[in-house]
Amino acid sequence: MSQKPCVKCQSTTSVYSRPYSGETLCKKCFLFSIEDKTRKTISKYSMLQHDDRVAVAVSGGKDSLSLLYVLKNIFEMGHRGTPIAVTVDEGIKNYRDESLEIVNQFCADLRIENKIVSYKELFGRDMDQVILERPSDKMSSCSICGTFRRRAIDLAAESVGANVVATAHNLDDQLHTFMINMIAGDVQRIGWSHPQSVTNKLHTLRKIKPFCEIYEQEIVFYALMRGLPFQTEDCPYMNEGIRTQIRDFINVLERERPGIKYNLYNSILKISSNLKTFPNRVDSKRCSTCGRMSTSNICSVCKTISVLGRK
Ligand code: SF4
Ligand code: ZN
Repeated sequence: MSQKPCVKCQSTTSVYSRPYSGETLCKKCFLFSIEDKTRKTISKYSMLQHDDRVAVAVSGGKDSLSLLYVLKNIFEMGHRGTPIAVTVDEGIKNYRDESLEIVNQFCADLRIENKIVSYKELFGRDMDQVILERPSDKMSSCSICGTFRRRAIDLAAESVGANVVATAHNLDDQLHTFMINMIAGDVQRIGWSHPQSVTNKLHTLRKIKPFCEIYEQEIVFYALMRGLPFQTEDCPYMNEGIRTQIRDFINVLERERPGIKYNLYNSILKISSNLKTFPNRVDSKRCSTCGRMSTSNICSVCKTISVLGRK
């Protein structure tokens, strides 16, 4: 807690200190700064058109519930209707049930429609089964789950007639993903990470990340200051591999040199901006098994299902 006055309104009760900018902010000005930053990010990258129908991918965690809350308010101020929540039930006993309850209650309180889809109904198995079926621990639980979740969110969004999917990826997530793609040599994915979404003939859904320029710790603080409910328990199958090491490394750098995350993010923007049209230069294909868009003959979801089925 800082004792310095708020630099915006001069209130003496500042609650947040931003090491990278030197600002100290009271609760009201801090909350406004996050909402304003989100609005400006949407506008800067032309993330939304007026007639868009927006689905917000919600997990029950602090980031996604904060995004739903902020977008609802932005939409109300802009007279553009209400976003729809889409929630994925991975089928993880004693873990997902709690977050589904939190999301349901939160959406009911905000009068937001919540569409729930499950791995079981879409892929014939839940995560508890996937863990038993995977041929080896080398297939990480989170990479299988991530592949299924992206598809599940797309299907849920399409089923409610949305043409835009908003996810709560924050600035830290962007940095981690960039580093992972660099290490894996996956240049194409670096291009896809640019905030101005790439349009593709076969893609009907546009993906946007309105929190992509906000530090993760500020979203946590936003959720706390707003008193938003969120799940704090970790998934029992969490296996983030190298992501955790990258997160720790970048957090140490930021602590010692405040603002380094922004510097890195700005460099990523320049790199991804040069690469973002790259996918349009490769042939868009359809998966020969499920018919959905894919960069190869068989999409990652169908490949994963066929490997799981082999055990
Ligand atoms: Fe899925 Fe991993 Fe998240 Fe658990 S932690 S829900 S396995 S992505
Ligand atoms: Zn497929």
